[in-house]
Amino acid sequence: MDITDSQKLQKEVVKLKEQKKIIGLVPTMGALHHGHLTLVDFAFQYCDYVIVSIFVNPTQFNNAGDLKNYPKNHQSDYDLLMSNNPNTIVFSPSVEGIYGNQVQAEEFDFGSIVQYMEGQFRSGHFNGVGTILKHLFDIVKPHKAFFGEKDYQQLALVKKLVQITGQDVEVIGCPTSRTASGLAESSRNFRLTEKQLDEAALIHLSLQKAKAAFHAEKDIQEIKTIVKSLFDASQGLDLEYFEIAAADDLVPVTQIKSDNSYRGFMAAFSGDVRLIDNIAF
Ligand code: AMP
Repeated sequence: MDITDSQKLQKEVVKLKEQKKIIGLVPTMGALHHGHLTLVDFAFQYCDYVIVSIFVNPTQFNNAGDLKNYPKNHQSDYDLLMSNNPNTIVFSPSVEGIYGNQVQAEEFDFGSIVQYMEGQFRSGHFNGVGTILKHLFDIVKPHKAFFGEKDYQQLALVKKLVQITGQDVEVIGCPTSRTASGLAESSRNFRLTEKQLDEAALIHLSLQKAKAAFHAEKDIQEIKTIVKSLFDASQGLDLEYFEIAAADDLVPVTQIKSDNSYRGFMAAFSGDVRLIDNIAF
């Protein structure tokens, strides 16, 4: 089923809820790949019906060119989702259907989770993400919503968002799907050559080396030096940031406390393609 109209979708959801079906929501921006399908399959472990929204959200782009060039292939996205699981409902609203004539991000106080890493390098992005998800939760009213750990800051933000708004939806994180080399699957990978794809394996590899150094009780500065030297020796990859941050408040740390859990976060450029990844330490 492919629905563009919010009211039509709401009617469908009400009908399914009356039948005691569990409804999941997987928000996406389309250009779907295998990583998205693992997220949808993960959602189907908890839900009878999964609504996959496909909406390229203008308020989360801080670069007009990026928004304009964002790949769109609705028919193949739809076909992929339907062949994957026919209990999928595709919701693809228009910009006007979501925002009316006010295409504007709301300001949220997400605190420390949006201050560093992606928050530092993509200004305004997270308010745009919060705005669209608040709208989607209002329209769809799913029981559960699923987000990839690949965008870990986003996942943390959504958990915070539902605390702020009081929306009654359970937010669930899904493990990152990776290629054989360990590279996190992403629509941006389609813009890389074979050689660049090989080189980009360093992102996950260096996160793993950092994790090993972390467990060998090296100090943070030493771990950062190890990661930097791996990138310095690489061919086509430029490291934008590498941080070790507490898994709850996402504040980068300079010193480890034994009772906390941590994750390593990274962004790197291959040519003009920006790739991000993170793992639990
Ligand atoms: P996007 O369309 O890029 O906004 O992504 C939609 C959802 O898919 C987000 O929750 C992402 O975190 C998730 N996602 C993207 N890539 C992957 C991946 N490789 N593994 C698992 N989830 C992913």
